[in-house]
Amino acid sequence: MVESQHYDVVIVGGGIAGLSVALRLPANLRVALFTKGQLGESNTRYAQGGLTVALGADDSPELHLQDTLAAGAGLCDVTTARILAEEAPAAVRWLISMGVQFDHARPGDSHATADGLLLGREAAHSRWRILHAGGDATGAEIERALVVAVRQRTSIHVYAETFVHRLLVDRDVCVGLEARDRTGRAFSVSASATILANGGAGGLWLRTSNPAGATADGLALAWRAGAALTDLEFMQFHPTVLVGNGSSHLISEAVRGEGAYLRNHAGERFMPRYHELAELAPRDVVARSILSEMLAEETDCQYLDLRHLDSATMYRRFPTISAICHEQGLDLARDLLPVAPAAHYCMGGVMTDADGRTTVDGLYAVGEVACTGVHGANRLASNSLLEGLVFGLRLAAGLAEPERIHALPAGRVAFEVPVYDDFQADADLLRVQPDEQKIGQARSQVRQLMWQFVSLRRDQAGLLEARRQLHALRQELAQTETVSTEDPVAQAAWQETVNMFKVAELVIAAALQRHESRGSHWRGDYQQSDAQLARTHYVFHPLSIQQHALPKLQEMVQHG
Ligand SMILES: Cc1cc2nc3c(=O)[nH]c(=O)nc-3n(C[C@H](O)[C@H](O)[C@H](O)COP(=O)(O)OP(=O)(O)OC[C@H]3O[C@@H](n4cnc5c(N)ncnc54)[C@H](O)[C@@H]3O)c2cc1C
Repeated sequence: MVESQHYDVVIVGGGIAGLSVALRLPANLRVALFTKGQLGESNTRYAQGGLTVALGADDSPELHLQDTLAAGAGLCDVTTARILAEEAPAAVRWLISMGVQFDHARPGDSHATADGLLLGREAAHSRWRILHAGGDATGAEIERALVVAVRQRTSIHVYAETFVHRLLVDRDVCVGLEARDRTGRAFSVSASATILANGGAGGLWLRTSNPAGATADGLALAWRAGAALTDLEFMQFHPTVLVGNGSSHLISEAVRGEGAYLRNHAGERFMPRYHELAELAPRDVVARSILSEMLAEETDCQYLDLRHLDSATMYRRFPTISAICHEQGLDLARDLLPVAPAAHYCMGGVMTDADGRTTVDGLYAVGEVACTGVHGANRLASNSLLEGLVFGLRLAAGLAEPERIHALPAGRVAFEVPVYDDFQADADLLRVQPDEQKIGQARSQVRQLMWQFVSLRRDQAGLLEARRQLHALRQELAQTETVSTEDPVAQAAWQETVNMFKVAELVIAAALQRHESRGSHWRGDYQQSDAQLARTHYVFHPLSIQQHALPKLQEMVQHG
């Protein structure tokens, strides 16, 4: 380790969550912000449909809350979900003050806010309440504006293309991190508060809407630092990812919000058979229905149909998706678009309270990497950008006033699952450095087995087989010949792969634990929801640090 620097706050992640925290902290605090790719490259950048806020004349935070709870299938934390809905309008005003330009209504548009912002509709929302930008380029606009603002803030030091590979824990308190930059220079940073805003885990599955960087690094970092993780069995599979020609581009829910139909190969509009809201049913219902049709027909896709909608309006409303379709030789408004479910969003994560605190002192988490409990078993469309924003602003406010007494959430009913982990297996794996080809193979094997056995529909036999194969692969890799490399890209790729192994194991353990189907967790061998598990969360924590983690964990949850 060559050098060590000190900051007041260190943030890992430059998506909406990390950037919101950084910008909301007072300018007298010294902040370090890390991104493993270029600043601006994140899942946030690819968000299409938009951001939820109850600003329509017929809408209210209470209605937004009710829709969030309904989608969450009985597992939302009502306290944090209420915060999400109630603090959304002020948070959105802050975002606009940072320079984000949402789309404005034109004459003739019927759904708009009092100050003229155009409102869209998405599945399982009872009102028109989705703000968007550039039609379907909402995330790109948010990322653009926040990156500009961060670059203007001299108190924020950005470490781009710098991979964070370890959190530093001293006497049970997180005191900073270690990282390696693009030149291969390794260094450490100490800080009073370390914030994980690393985003999600979609990259663990072969088919995903996520860009390549979503390798669950934050979950693995938190786990090795001793933090509790929860709800990992709940991975949302987005129903409509464009397939064919190796494509894995998302077709936003907003397209169905504007009236698109889903059809099977026989041309039947099948969704009314599955749910009264048809194409606007919650995401888990639509994804399951599509898969059921695929299984019944033995096909590998279903079709999205916009042919009955006004084509000029569709091209204007969805320019990005239109261009994606064009690249695949498809016309958004005139062709049937082949779609299938793919891994999209991780509802579970590092367990936090409403102020971003984890079970480890000094360590905070926010955005997709965190589990505040707002999404329950199934995230309502366009609630995730909002979660990163609202809880990012709250976290920053809490850190700005350290003397503030933080109120803990009312309590989730939690069932603790201690997992013995002395981290030796990860240490063994990290000691080897396979060549590039071997790393590529290992990643594909993990993604393949997660896709095959831990997908939208899973059962005990498949989950156990996935666990067996992962273990065998880990053993094999631990014997791999180490290549000598100073290449920081290769080193980071291997770190990511080891993180994928760790989180895949934990997801499998969580999926094995929940003997019911609920929200995004569909067990072929337990098809029904179990009323007794309606408010139960499985909270995993590494046993080797149980002594110090338990009191804080017990403070945060009530035992079921
Ligand atoms: C195609 C697509 C469309 C979507 N559409 C919508 C939508 O319309 N509405 C909505 O609400 N949500 C949408 N989502 C989900 C939403 O975009 C994400 O949940 C959200 O952007 C996550 O933000 P974040 O700040 O938590 O993380 P991210 O935006 O993913 O940022 C993660 C950051 O962490 C950094 N990082 C990760 N690991 C490391 C490491 N080891 N070292 C250093 N840096 C690291 C990355 O470089 C990056 O800067 C969509 C997602 C996708 C993929």
